[in-house]
Amino acid sequence: MIKDILIYPNPILRQKSKPVEEFDDVLHQLLDDLSETMEHYGGVGLASVQIGVPKAAFIINIPVKDENDEDIIKKENLIEVINPQIISQDGEQVFSEGCLSVPGYTTEIKRAKTIQVKYQDRYGNHISKKFYGYMAVAWLHECEHLSGRIFVENLNFTDRKKFEKNWKKKKKKKKNEENKNKI
Ligand SMILES: [Zn+2]
Repeated sequence: MIKDILIYPNPILRQKSKPVEEFDDVLHQLLDDLSETMEHYGGVGLASVQIGVPKAAFIINIPVKDENDEDIIKKENLIEVINPQIISQDGEQVFSEGCLSVPGYTTEIKRAKTIQVKYQDRYGNHISKKFYGYMAVAWLHECEHLSGRIFVENLNFTDRKKFEKNWKKKKKKKKNEENKNKI
């Protein structure tokens, strides 16, 4: 089912996600909802807490290029991540990031280039893997969601202040537009 995505600064987004213990139908439904919601809103990654369920689970689906060099999402590239652990991080890269909980905003964030991780799949199987590039960025972004953080918290003081000011202005403008024809 397509769920509503919580928008910054909703306080639920600050909650620390709890480890998943049961790999049951409830979890599978949650993962299916995440996937439908992400597909609907056109994201690359989505953490469970973003739909209001603070459980240590997220999904990622990195787009690939088709024959016309257009970005497309392939269902078979979806990865479902439960109880992630980052074992090590290495190198540095700067990527332009956005977030479905902060719609319309992108900014460059510096993160590790490669990561060594452990996680579980939807059946509870343990997986150990190394990721790099865009995938490493998405992983680190989603892991931040699980610890109750949002990517804008990585901005320096000045950029963060600028973001907060513009975000408030944008929200106010949106509210005024929504109320326009209400009598
Ligand atoms: Zn996000």
